[in-house]
Amino acid sequence: MLSAYLDEKGELVLGEKEIPEVKSDDILIKVIACGICGTDVHVFKGINRGKPNVIRGHEFVGEIVEVGSGVKDLRTKDIVVVDPNIPCMNCFQCRNGRVHLCKNLTAIGVDLDGGFAEYCVLPSKQAYKLPSNIEPIVGALAEPLACALHGIDRVDLKEGEDVLIIGGGALGLILTQLVVNGGAGRVFVSEPYKEKRDLAFGFGATRVIDPINEDLLDIIKKETNGRGVDVVIEAVGSDKTILQAIKAVSDGGRVLFFGVAPEDVKIEISPFEVYRRELTLLGSFVNPFTMERAVSLISGRRVNLYPLISDIIPLHDIKKGVDIASTGRSIRVLVKP
Ligand SMILES: [Zn+2]
Ligand SMILES: [Zn+2]
Repeated sequence: MLSAYLDEKGELVLGEKEIPEVKSDDILIKVIACGICGTDVHVFKGINRGKPNVIRGHEFVGEIVEVGSGVKDLRTKDIVVVDPNIPCMNCFQCRNGRVHLCKNLTAIGVDLDGGFAEYCVLPSKQAYKLPSNIEPIVGALAEPLACALHGIDRVDLKEGEDVLIIGGGALGLILTQLVVNGGAGRVFVSEPYKEKRDLAFGFGATRVIDPINEDLLDIIKKETNGRGVDVVIEAVGSDKTILQAIKAVSDGGRVLFFGVAPEDVKIEISPFEVYRRELTLLGSFVNPFTMERAVSLISGRRVNLYPLISDIIPLHDIKKGVDIASTGRSIRVLVKP
């Protein structure tokens, strides 16, 4: 089968691999679509290291073509989305319910062969069935949606709270829909690209802000009588926008570090300010126990994921897909084997 992985030098290559054997608890799926995540772009562009010879791609949906002898709840022709993260269930964090912080965490598409291939074999417990009335391709956004849900859980949003989302990429636009659905008061979205701002507005944002030509902090202060918003979700991962987030939040507010910053980025924070303004700074990592809710939201058509698919690229053109995904214009680039 055709598949995309890194060679020993860290270069993205397309090559033929054998379809692995299906063990008793496994399923074999034919990949329908797999999203190119920012983390994949970082690895394919050499910014972060990835494991050689592992097929990448962790945001995918497929159709089951074979089930292992021990698999009970799934059958061939089922459309499934994949939770890529596999905790050990044995370490201190797993035993305390924080499976995403597992010390032995492995991930499909990172440590184990993933979705940038024609087929993928995975443990059946990592698969979640999509109902048949849902366009399968949106399933490629189920995992990002599950990550966004964990972020919302972390900020513990209350109805009527004002929220600023910095960054209108796929995740920022999913988060916009979740906070609107969740009853936020005013929802502000800051995003340089007009097409994405328009989508955010369509999803119910109260006010969209162009951070290049408008003064974000000025607008937030004006709109909130100088107080700032209750919650800021930073969905970019740059030092500049994280510092903006801390300035835009009200005293007593919460800032969620949702965007993935490069590992070596540092910011300067005043501990006195965190103390005196009683700020809560929160992190959010992947998708613990949120995949079922993601599938429910998709099944109930409570989120609109289709407009977030900006490009669909055949697997043999994945390098072009990575180039498109690394521009700010694209939202989610899907690879179709
Ligand atoms: Zn991802
Ligand atoms: Zn563990």
